[in-house]
Amino acid sequence: MSKQNIINDNGIITVDTNFVRPQYNASHLILQNGEAAFIDVGTSNNVNILENSLRENNLDNADVKYIFLTHVHLDHAGGAGKLIKLLPNAKLVVHPKGAEHMINPSKLIESSVRVYGKNLFDHLFGEIIPIDEKRIFVPSDKDEIYLSDRRFELFFTEGHAKHHYCIFDEISNSVFSGDNFGMSFREFDSINGKISIPITSPNQFDPDEAHNSIDSIIGYRPKYIYAAHFGQLDEIEKIGAVLHKFIDEFVDIAEKNANEEDTLQSIHSSLQEHIKNKLFEHGCSNIEEKLNNFIQTDLYVNAAGLNYWLSKNH
Ligand SMILES: [Zn+2]
Repeated sequence: MSKQNIINDNGIITVDTNFVRPQYNASHLILQNGEAAFIDVGTSNNVNILENSLRENNLDNADVKYIFLTHVHLDHAGGAGKLIKLLPNAKLVVHPKGAEHMINPSKLIESSVRVYGKNLFDHLFGEIIPIDEKRIFVPSDKDEIYLSDRRFELFFTEGHAKHHYCIFDEISNSVFSGDNFGMSFREFDSINGKISIPITSPNQFDPDEAHNSIDSIIGYRPKYIYAAHFGQLDEIEKIGAVLHKFIDEFVDIAEKNANEEDTLQSIHSSLQEHIKNKLFEHGCSNIEEKLNNFIQTDLYVNAAGLNYWLSKNH
């Protein structure tokens, strides 16, 4: 097994897509009686990593029955078109509001280029390949899907994006949260455990729905959550309470900076300062250095999402 992968209980493998840096972006591979499913797939650049994860588990490409996309942002869905061409029996399971963007990705590409700029976009995401609609299954809220005898329940969760769902996995008693239970990086673990920070990227961040999503995830009483950024989380209630607080504090920061000359810049600085303090309280060390190395871009994207939300709501 390559060091990229983390084997959890119950046939759940956290595959590191190596997007941006190690331990930043995960695809989860689920194994059940010789059948397999991926939950989120990263980008076209890491499709070989996903294929290798099958080989390492003695599986063939034909054993993959589902590709679940928690949502269609390109760090989760960008590689789906390239991947599905290699998996003859796989169905792509995508939210009703996301499906059209997988069939015709032009709008998705356009809005990502707006967030990242053309050069960074090309470097990060590579080629985005459209998907034949015959390969797509569009679920309804609370639909059940079985991988062999393993029951998944899909539930719609807005807040991060309107095309987002999460997956409750009954056998492992866990929820795959996509981007709806924040980003939680191992570099910020401390004696106080893990900390997760909300992802408020443009342009569908909605604080009320973000609160609702956290509540619906916790409502399943999962033992573990598997976050796309990054991997297995425990102590769910504790992390959830911090996330709820963060969302209110982020909104507060946005509103307090509404009348500044450069709102985006001001939100960004206040957000950085706030996160710095919170990480200090959490017991992190070398905070300045870690902020720069690990979540610099994320905080900028978070500020942009808050700024967009502010412009729509005030
Ligand atoms: Zn993401």
